[in-house]
Amino acid sequence: MASFLITDVRIFDGENSIDHGSVLVQDGRIAQVSSTQIDHRGTTISKPGHTLLPGLIDVHIHADGGNPVALPQSLRFGVTTVCDMHNEDFNIARLRKQIEGGDCADLKTTSFAATIDMGWPMPIVLMHHDTPEVRAEMATWPRLTTPESGRQYVRDRVAEGVDYIKLMHESGKLLGQTFNKPSLELQTAIIDEAHQHGLKAVAHATCLSDTLEILQCGADGLTHCALDALVTDDVIAAYKRNNAHCNPTLAAMGSLTTEGAALQAKLAHDPRAQALMDDEARGRMCACMAVGKDTGKIQHAYDSVKSLKAAGVPILVGSDAASPAVGTAWGLSMHHELALFVNECGFSPAEALNAATALPAARFGFMDRGRIREGMRADLLLVEGNPVEDVDRTLDIRAVWKEGRLCSVYEGKV
Ligand SMILES: [Zn+2]
Repeated sequence: MASFLITDVRIFDGENSIDHGSVLVQDGRIAQVSSTQIDHRGTTISKPGHTLLPGLIDVHIHADGGNPVALPQSLRFGVTTVCDMHNEDFNIARLRKQIEGGDCADLKTTSFAATIDMGWPMPIVLMHHDTPEVRAEMATWPRLTTPESGRQYVRDRVAEGVDYIKLMHESGKLLGQTFNKPSLELQTAIIDEAHQHGLKAVAHATCLSDTLEILQCGADGLTHCALDALVTDDVIAAYKRNNAHCNPTLAAMGSLTTEGAALQAKLAHDPRAQALMDDEARGRMCACMAVGKDTGKIQHAYDSVKSLKAAGVPILVGSDAASPAVGTAWGLSMHHELALFVNECGFSPAEALNAATALPAARFGFMDRGRIREGMRADLLLVEGNPVEDVDRTLDIRAVWKEGRLCSVYEGKV
């Protein structure tokens, strides 16, 4: 595989910045990082005025139906790793095959989440797409009942080689409905079994009472931030007790309440995004899920994230991008999320970028990525300007490499 040198760039290494540095890539890995010149005879890419960052990690997507757009579009937007948070095993297999063809973000997965009969997300999926195909796909989902069925579910996922376990703890409160919710005994058994196999267990919840319950069952992280109320001291204490993180999915939550519509439209029509997505993706990004508009307030999520951050709870950037989750777009929603972290939740740009690179890698144990450091995968994002001063510059993308291979839309342009 080719080796090349990127030089005369600012480097954000996942945590800290080097004002003027060089990175040598060899055989898909980062071979050397330096604040002085690196001696290299081969291909040299000199980019003054540009910043090199670790490829972004989106800790929450759904490549629903094995959608072939999800992984290439993510990569074009600088997202080199995505974490799928519920999918069918056969769709994961299809996506893995697609990755072999190149030009795709890398995929981490739970495979099937720990679903129960007519629990989240079955009712909402059927509300929007009740077709024979959807019902056939849904027939393959777990329908967990007893704690032992939950333990077997985890062992089945371990046999598949999953990267973490995803729980669904949704009462329906935010949607003004009542859904079947897994028992606390079942959730506790799943989390315990996951821990016995060295896996993190992260959970969906969208209201505060569900959030507290699932943390009390031992969850290692939340895949949303509650919208119905501000985070309370007991919930913060539960996060701290578990050493749990929060992936608030602010952009998707703004689509749930519709308060995010204006920024969704602005980003969907941003000139920098146009060549990286098609009309269908753009149209979806401009629509709103709107199922939480009477019960939720995005300000609750913004203010809760501030409180959690102040308490030292790790906050991770992740989008929940999925084709049924209108208001989102694979890849682009990560930039949306970064903007919300900085503009609404009091993060410095460097803190937000850390929450999209080194921090999620550390939280999930993806030890080969998330940082620009010797020996790491050469998953890299090159942008013009300085996103550590102005986070909006992350969309001024000039190149994306995954394992040292340039994403094809940037070929001939670097
Ligand atoms: Zn999700």
